[in-house]
Amino acid sequence: MNIINPATGAIISTIKSDTREDLNTKLANLRQGQKSWAKKTVEERLNCIKKYGELIQENKDKLAHILTSETGKPLQQSLNEIQGAQNRVTHLSQNAKQWLAPEVLVHKGTTLERIKYEPLGVIANISAWNFPYNVGYNVFLYALVAGNSVLYKPSEYAALTGKQFEYYLHQSGVPKDVFQCVIGDGRLGQQILESKVDGYFFTGSHKTGLHIYQTVASKMVPVQLELGGKDPLYVADDVVDVKQAAINAAEGAFYNNGQSCCAVERIYIAVGIYDEFVKAFTEEVKSYKIGDPSDLSTFIGPLTRGEQLKVLKDQIADAIAKGANLLSGGKAIEGKGYYFEPTVLANCNHDMKVMVEESFGPIIGLQKVDSDEEVIELMLDTEYGLTSAVFSSNEERAMNILDAMNTGTVYWNCCDRVSPNLPWSGRKNSGIGSTLSSQGIRAFVQPKAYHLRKT
Ligand code: NAP
Repeated sequence: MNIINPATGAIISTIKSDTREDLNTKLANLRQGQKSWAKKTVEERLNCIKKYGELIQENKDKLAHILTSETGKPLQQSLNEIQGAQNRVTHLSQNAKQWLAPEVLVHKGTTLERIKYEPLGVIANISAWNFPYNVGYNVFLYALVAGNSVLYKPSEYAALTGKQFEYYLHQSGVPKDVFQCVIGDGRLGQQILESKVDGYFFTGSHKTGLHIYQTVASKMVPVQLELGGKDPLYVADDVVDVKQAAINAAEGAFYNNGQSCCAVERIYIAVGIYDEFVKAFTEEVKSYKIGDPSDLSTFIGPLTRGEQLKVLKDQIADAIAKGANLLSGGKAIEGKGYYFEPTVLANCNHDMKVMVEESFGPIIGLQKVDSDEEVIELMLDTEYGLTSAVFSSNEERAMNILDAMNTGTVYWNCCDRVSPNLPWSGRKNSGIGSTLSSQGIRAFVQPKAYHLRKT
């Protein structure tokens, strides 16, 4: 498989794809390996994960360059991602023992009722390229600590990074027959769906997620889907500093080139501050440094996948044809690589694709609203349910809106963030199940209920 640098279009590496036979061998090994891995204590398994975290920290510069070279993520953002994902290691180290401990519910006379949490077995983790550390760790670190073995399929656009995960996990003491990376594109993903595993944990698009859900339904194994979003942000007219709100909103929309599941994808602005906000927002976006992602000062690099250029062009043409004003950007940048100008569209409405379909790129639609009631209706007008955000100085006002949202996550005066303390989950077309927090580890175990009576 050729690995392409999206900043130049050059082939930077060629790696061997796994065949169906390789996949079968790896799965058979994982089946065997899981048995002894599950017998280890949580502490022993955690020691491997802690060691893994240390090795990643020691090698983060090299790893950031690898991530940047295959995804085009600006180097500083690659470093941020590696550093940020480390909080999963810390959080697991502090909490996993307690989360996985058996629970005694009743101990009365001769009766004992308790729950034991047992691993699922061999799980498949089919993952996305946009934040491979974050979304990978959310699954495979938690699954390993819980006693499962893991077949990890990175996206073909983050395959080199996936191989590094495998290398460093093995270096950290995770046995080779407990974590295996498989290399290949969607066809290999399809073969995984046809194989015997004890759970599917997927991060990616709604389209693929739905296909996975339907394909594996008859297996009756847990399926968890972390899918896309069309996340709204409302900027109310009582924000303390309109310019700062615009800077923060723009970062939420354009960080990682907008290729974040929880990127701000549509912004509603109260009529009273609309003009001031739009001006500050556009100025901020125009100031972004676009260029070579390996330069630490670059904020906007190339898109990871060339095919997305077409989606963006189509959404922009559709919005302009329906009356949107193009305030910045609007087209691909000529030359090598998959560069697209950061694009701001004002005067948008829900007839336009840019306000209802996931863009997953550096474009944003801005819409003026007259009231909180109107904005609630607009924010709820979506097939997705990942996150919603409100910028306002009034907590009660913000909570009224956020309480009405049908999303797994809500933000007040912040956006586009994930915390290991809190469950990460989508509703509707944004997915099923939760990663992170105590709920995230419970996804990788099955409870066994013990009814015990001493005679
Ligand atoms: P994608 O195209 O759906 O691919 C995701 C994974 O599925 C890749 O490993 C892909 O392999 C594999 N795949 C493709 N076809 C398959 C098939 N028929 N059977 C099994 N696996 C198959 O998504 P993506 O472009 O990588 O990621 C972007 C999407 O992920 C966006 O919608 C984003 O919002 C979402 N996302 C969600 C979260 C979250 O936490 N909710 C986090 C990150 C991203 P190849 O890539 O090798 O083809």
